[in-house]
Amino acid sequence: MAASIFTRIINGEIPCHKVYEDDRVIAFLDINPLSPGHTLIVPKEPAETVDKLSDESASAIGRVLPRISRAVLAATGAKAFNILQNNGAGAHQAVFHVHFHIIPKFESGQGLGIGWKPGKLEDGAALASRIAAAI
Ligand code: 5GP
Repeated sequence: MAASIFTRIINGEIPCHKVYEDDRVIAFLDINPLSPGHTLIVPKEPAETVDKLSDESASAIGRVLPRISRAVLAATGAKAFNILQNNGAGAHQAVFHVHFHIIPKFESGQGLGIGWKPGKLEDGAALASRIAAAI
């Protein structure tokens, strides 16, 4: 399978505005930001979606998410932000290499727009037990 654009960034074949790197993770500015400071946190492991990511990479991402979020807030002056993580073309994923977006939200409205249409939980007990059994 061809290397993803993010693997090529990790390998230094494509430039990026890098803000953080360690053995397992890289973070850089999104090339088409929703707001100033829009940052992508990417595991070096080339898993396509988060359900395929190893526990080690997941831990490494989780360890730096708060720290990078604080830095984005400090650098942009934003007071709020969203963390977005898309899996699958049907869920708006365009680059098939796991990544977490940190998207500052400004009082001007700049940032992630969310259309949220809540439903009503039905058969919660049966559904929860099916998910629990699958973990
Ligand atoms: P997705 O919809 O897959 O969650 O988002 C992919 C993101 O990657 C988009 O926000 C897009 O702007 C960003 N992106 C795609 N190609 C590049 C690139 O070559 N460099 C950088 N820095 N960001 C990219």
